[in-house]
Amino acid sequence: MSFDPGHTSTLDGPVVPSTPAPRGTRWRRAVATVRRWIDTDTQAPLDEARADRIDWLRTSPFIAMHLACIAVLWVGVSPVALIVAAAMYAIRMFALTAFYHRYFSHKTFRTSRAMQFVFALIGASSVQRGPLWWAAHHRNHHRHTETALDPHSPSVHGFLRSHVGWFLTPRAFRTELERVPDLARFPELRVLDRYDTLVPVLLAAALFGLGALLQRLAPQLGTSGSQMLVWGFFVSTTVLFHATVTINSLAHRYGKRRFDTQDDSRNNLWLALITFGEGWHNNHHFYPGTVRQGFRWWEIDLTYYGLRVMALLGLVHDLKPIPAWVAARAKA
Ligand SMILES: [Zn+2]
Ligand SMILES: [Zn+2]
Repeated sequence: MSFDPGHTSTLDGPVVPSTPAPRGTRWRRAVATVRRWIDTDTQAPLDEARADRIDWLRTSPFIAMHLACIAVLWVGVSPVALIVAAAMYAIRMFALTAFYHRYFSHKTFRTSRAMQFVFALIGASSVQRGPLWWAAHHRNHHRHTETALDPHSPSVHGFLRSHVGWFLTPRAFRTELERVPDLARFPELRVLDRYDTLVPVLLAAALFGLGALLQRLAPQLGTSGSQMLVWGFFVSTTVLFHATVTINSLAHRYGKRRFDTQDDSRNNLWLALITFGEGWHNNHHFYPGTVRQGFRWWEIDLTYYGLRVMALLGLVHDLKPIPAWVAARAKA
């Protein structure tokens, strides 16, 4: 991506010239970066020279989360820790695919304000930032697919950057509220988005507490606070993250194209299985307005089945179907 250094950025405050910053400025920037771990509204000027490079300081907790997975070597494993890790993966994957993606980003069904908040909260525990940030970037992805303005296009930015690199740059940090005015009008969602580190930290603490409690009350289960923290939070969240972002990277490279879309999106069964239906990505890019991503009966879409069950229970409603004309445009 190239930018005119004299141009004022609309992304993240004023542009700072690319000459080395004075010591005081560098210090202030580092303090602002650390404050952003807690409060994402902390203002800091966007240095265009560094805007597309990985911000190691700000993203060090995210990198530490990966390194913490190595602790499985010391904490050991137990069936109960694996069950909790799998459950944490499944519940949060559903919150991300059904709510962060199909509800907040695309509005493909309706629900109550309470239910919207509950699933925003579960989604926020996934270390994928808040719901407004996620939806704003995803709307940019659909609006600018495979162009320089697409935050994560493998054909424009390369595979690694589309998978994880973009997420770690200063340019991707800010929540573009102008992209999500329909969501920004809910103060509870804005608070969740602003303090997006809080929810994962509370979840990690709760999982440690659960493990410590089980160790005391049911020692035969062979678990502990640290074991539950490592498997239930660090391993589960890291795997969840990489599974989710395969849709940004692999689902724009590997698979079949049923529809002649303007982008490189693909339909991929394996990705659909690990992401509960999101792997039918070519379907989704062709028609993002439906709650379904598997368009054929055999295209497994666990998120859609889950939403059907929620609709039967009266928790969600107005699930948008696939229009008849869409099927007529399929190549096979
Ligand atoms: Zn895509
Ligand atoms: Zn989408």
